[in-house]
Amino acid sequence: MQWTVRLEVRTSAGEVTTTELVTFSRPGVVSTLAEIGLMLAETKTLLAKLQASMLCGQVAAYAAHHRVCAACGVLQPLKDRRTRRLQTLFGTVEVEAPRFKVCRCRLTTPLAEVTVSPICALLTARCTPELERVQAELGARTSFRDGARILEALLPVSPANHESLRSRTHAVALQLEAADRQAAAEVTAVRDERDEAAAADGGRPVVMLDGAYIRAVPGHQVRNFEAICGKVEREGHATRRFALVRNVAEQPHALLRAALQGQGWREGEAVTAISDGDPALPALVRSATGGPVQPILDWFHLSMRVHHVEQVMRGLCALEPLPLVLPDHAQIDVERLRSLLWNGHHEKACEALGRIASWAKDAVVPNEPVAEATLRRLAARCAELRRYIENNEGALIDYGQRYRAGKPISTSRAEGTVNQLVNARMNKRRQMRWSPRGAHRVLQVRAAVLDGRFRQQAIQLAA
Ligand SMILES: [Zn+2]
Repeated sequence: MQWTVRLEVRTSAGEVTTTELVTFSRPGVVSTLAEIGLMLAETKTLLAKLQASMLCGQVAAYAAHHRVCAACGVLQPLKDRRTRRLQTLFGTVEVEAPRFKVCRCRLTTPLAEVTVSPICALLTARCTPELERVQAELGARTSFRDGARILEALLPVSPANHESLRSRTHAVALQLEAADRQAAAEVTAVRDERDEAAAADGGRPVVMLDGAYIRAVPGHQVRNFEAICGKVEREGHATRRFALVRNVAEQPHALLRAALQGQGWREGEAVTAISDGDPALPALVRSATGGPVQPILDWFHLSMRVHHVEQVMRGLCALEPLPLVLPDHAQIDVERLRSLLWNGHHEKACEALGRIASWAKDAVVPNEPVAEATLRRLAARCAELRRYIENNEGALIDYGQRYRAGKPISTSRAEGTVNQLVNARMNKRRQMRWSPRGAHRVLQVRAAVLDGRFRQQAIQLAA
């Protein structure tokens, strides 16, 4: 049996032409399942031929239209015929790009010869925007090599190499950043109190920030560099992710500002920032908003440090035989720590920590090296937690109250973002190494892809 695919083209003038695209053959009666239906290779040929035919037809019509002088309607003389190549998802197509001599009626000096190439004006890039986007999305989702293999396996696209994927991902990242800078510049200000109340209807925007380390390429000054990842959440709005490598981002605060703007935030409105105690993170939020920021120390990071104290205390109690008498107050103080901090009594927590630490330091356990070491560790952990609390005093809140009000108290969701944005793509286990610039750009596209922003207006703005 044979199947022939013919393409019927009808021009806007009503002319119809038919061309034969491909013919597929199979035995009259198939003998295996594999012979049934279209094959991938056939589909790729079909798509490539259809694309070439469509594209050449459109380009030819465009050239013919622009050959006519817009002023007097005369055909402009042909100067020469050149060709241009355009990469598409369905193959690279070579098109004719004729150059015309500009009509005499439009020349200021009659004897001069000026040529125009309408096709060059149409083909502003070497590839179609669709190919660029698909390559960038794959480059953000998976390794450049794997992305290139996927494309090559399924579509007649060429060239489908990893360098091409990388450069398209970078190009799209630059477009996204430009769109973010534009959005950041267009943030409107809150006009008055009533306006602010209306804006705050969906609750204050909450920015959750966290850092992640990425292995640097050899030859870079440092072994690892930091990427800041986060999420902006606000009731009634789709969550927005953002990520940046600070020293290579053109305007780091603009990326966060654009993310806030996407959540309906307006200049002058207060923002809550939850982070792990690194003072650089709320500072970034402050520089992005230029206004009031309520910093909150992430409960998870605080709770982890409490856990360290509890763990050492438990270890001490478990020693057999117990080498010393554990005073009740020490045990009670350790047990209270978590609830004191949870309920916003961080001063009392510091006092309790001081008591435990001084007891642990002064306790005497002759000839008991294990107990001795455990006590020293307990004192160290307590001092560590106390320092952490004191350093973050302005960012400690009544977590219980905030939690009961249904508001976020932890960056655990931001850590999820770190996993999604950084770890899943820049996997340390796979020994991937990155340049800060390369990582920053992939992160821009990846955040947009994961948000579902990728195909929306942001990228079209910049395209
Ligand atoms: Zn003319």
